[in-house]
Parts: sequence; C-alpha cells; structure tokens
Amino acid sequence: MAGKKVKTDVAVIGAGPAGLAAAIEAASCGARVWVFDENLKPGGQLFKQIHRFFGSREHQAGIRGFQIGQKLLQETKENGVKVFLESVVWGYFPGNELGIADKERLYTIKAKKIIVATGASENPLHFPGWTLPGVMGAGAAQTMMNLHRILPGRKIVMVGGGNVGLIVSYQLLQAGAEILALVEALPHLGGYQVHAAKIRRQGVPILTSHTVVEATGKNSVEKVVIAPLTPDWKPDLSRKQTLPADLVCLAVGLRPEADLLSMANCEFTYLPNLGGFIPLHNENMETTNSDLLVAGDTAGVEEASSAMEEGRLAGICAAMSLGFLKSKEAKERKREIMNRLEALRKGPFGEDRQKAKEKIWKEYEKYEGKVNSR
Ligand SMILES: Cc1cc2nc3c(=O)[nH]c(=O)nc-3n(C[C@H](O)[C@H](O)[C@H](O)COP(=O)(O)OP(=O)(O)OC[C@H]3O[C@@H](n4cnc5c(N)ncnc54)[C@H](O)[C@@H]3O)c2cc1C
Repeated sequence: MAGKKVKTDVAVIGAGPAGLAAAIEAASCGARVWVFDENLKPGGQLFKQIHRFFGSREHQAGIRGFQIGQKLLQETKENGVKVFLESVVWGYFPGNELGIADKERLYTIKAKKIIVATGASENPLHFPGWTLPGVMGAGAAQTMMNLHRILPGRKIVMVGGGNVGLIVSYQLLQAGAEILALVEALPHLGGYQVHAAKIRRQGVPILTSHTVVEATGKNSVEKVVIAPLTPDWKPDLSRKQTLPADLVCLAVGLRPEADLLSMANCEFTYLPNLGGFIPLHNENMETTNSDLLVAGDTAGVEEASSAMEEGRLAGICAAMSLGFLKSKEAKERKREIMNRLEALRKGPFGEDRQKAKEKIWKEYEKYEGKVNSR
C-alpha cells in the first residue's frame, strides 16, 4: 500500500470488542472493511480478561473475556475483514484520509466511512514519587502479567476500588504477588462485591477513605506511604502507614481515547461518569462529522458488552449510509440492538450511563442538519 492512496469502504480504528463487532456487521452487509490496531494481536482489552465476565447471559456473562475475543476473531475472518496489526493510526486529514505507521513504513489511506473504536486510556494520579519506575496503571500491570507473562511487582499497593482495581488485584494474587493494601478514597467501593469478596478472602486489607501520599525509592519504588482521609479530603498524616511496596498500581478511572476525533473537528461534551470529554454522537453512533462514527469506550467508558453493541450499531449505520443495507432492514436491526443496550443500561450501575447517553444524544440535536463531511 506504500505511496498510493488506496481506498476502502469502511476503515475501523481499533480491534477491540467495539471495532471487531463494527467490522463484522459492516462486512456482513457487503462493505469492504479494513481494521487497524496498534497491537501485535487483535482483541483490545479482551485478551487480558481471564476472569468470567459480569453482565447478562445474553451478553455472554460467565464467559471469560479472551473467549469472547476468540469468537469475534473467528467471525471477523469468516466475513472477509482485513485486519492490519502493529499499525498505529496517527492522523486524520480532511477528505477522510488516515495516516498510518506500521513496522516498516508511513502511509495514508482513504475511507468512505471511518469508525473510531480506539478504547480508553488510564487516568494518572499525581503524588510525590509518581514518576518513579514501579508506579503504573492497573491496565499496564495486567498487560505485563496476562499477555507478556511478567509479574510487574511482588509487593503491591493498589489504588482504586472499582472493578478494575479489584479484578487486577485478584489476578496479581493468582500470579503470586502480595497485595499489601487496596486503598480507595471514597467511603465505599465502586466495584462489585463478588470481586471484593475474592480478595478479602485472601486477607488483602481493603482501606476505604484512604489515599496514597507518597512513593519513595532510589531508582524505583521501595516504600509507599498511605493515610486515611479527613472529612475534608486531606490525608491525616498523624495516622499514616509506610508499606514496603515495590509497585503502586493506579486504577483510578479511564478516559475516552478520542484524539483522532479532535483532529477531525468533532464536537465534544463533558460527562464525568462516562470518563470526561466525550465525542458528541447520535443513536446511530455518528459524530458531528458525518463520515466518522464512534463505538465502545471512545464513545464513553462502559464495558465490553455495550462496546460490542455500539460497534454493531456503527457497522450497520455505516453500511446503510453507503447503500449496502436497505433502511427498513437497518431500522429493524438497530431497534433490536437498542433494546439490548437499554437492558444493559439498567440497574444501579447502568442507569447513570443511560442518562448520560441521553444527554449526549440531546446535545447532538443542536448539530443535526449541520453535520457534514470535512
Ligand atoms: C481489568 C478490567 C476488567 C474488565 N472486566 C469487564 C467485564 O467483566 N465485563 C465487561 O463487559 N467489560 C469489562 N471490562 C471493560 C472492557 O474490557 C472494555 O470496556 C472494552 O474492552 C472496551 O472495548 P473497546 O473496543 O471500546 O476498546 P479496547 O478493548 O480498549 O480496544 C481498543 C483498541 O484500539 C487500539 N488503538 C487505540 N488507539 C489506536 C490508534 N491510534 N491506532 C491503532 N490502534 C489503536 C487499542 O490498542 C486497542 O487494541 C474490563 C476492563 C478492565 C480493564
């Protein structure tokens, strides 16, 4: 492809559950689909998830994440989707041109529709010593452990009591590490009790209303200071503890990875419960640049089940607008997916996300009729 501007119907950026589901749908309608992912293997977060997934049976709860990934990859193959690995999409240019870098070359391609399914990145946390080797995101620790088979540390302080912090703690224990403490700033845990119970049973101290104060060490982390928080959110240093840890794992939230959409001048809104700045989109997953669609964590951080459903929506909408699918059939298929998404966004964890999505769709209406290809 080097040198020439080759063209495809649909380019999907990101081969996680959202991107693969989008590619399968669009290709099954007859579109020529290319998927680009920066990793050695496709699947996004899925191949790191060795635990049984939460959610409803319809959404493959009980199945381990990597098994969902294997099924998606099989369908990708069956539908003739071309997957380009070790290929970073580094730029969007007017006229739907994408800049891509692989191991050997830089090149550009053009696509009639682009689906951005680049997932999310981990939030950092700033404290004295946060740049020392031995302070890393929980997702990074999970990649080292579950993909590359490297234990990132032996004595660990986990920061964050959401599902990511709880699940990665358990996996670190299974891999032979010791969790000296899990600290959570809120007075309660954000993750599911079933995951908390697993690490409690292994004797991990779960300290709510606590934070990490400092990490120290000569060349890497050797000691970590933690302390309880006062009601006005200040660390109570009179009750601090120093732990002999060599790793601080940060599981303090994710934010949509949406730089390519900024380059394409897409409009954003700010919604903390979906991860911060979210590209505006409608129920068809179209952004305010009508040739760019979004799906999955890029469109607001949720979970793999909703990422796959949003991917399916984006794939169907792209195929329909390119004439590969009749609008009546597309409408029926979209309705089924929307019903499943609504079911996922119910209950104590889901309701907030449903409200946030409705806010995004409402705000998008301001741009309806003004969206255009750029
Ligand atoms: C510890 C943990 C446990 C979880 N447990 C569950 C669970 O039990 N159930 C559940 O439903 N969900 C779970 N999730 C959440 C789930 O994994 C994510 O919500 C889901 O993977 C999001 O899918 P995605 O396709 O949007 O993004 P990702 O899976 O993150 O995929 C995005 C892909 O895009 C690639 N990419 C990004 N930028 C570029 C670029 N510029 N060029 C090329 N490639 C790029 C990335 O490398 C990645 O491969 C868990 C997450 C974690 C971290």
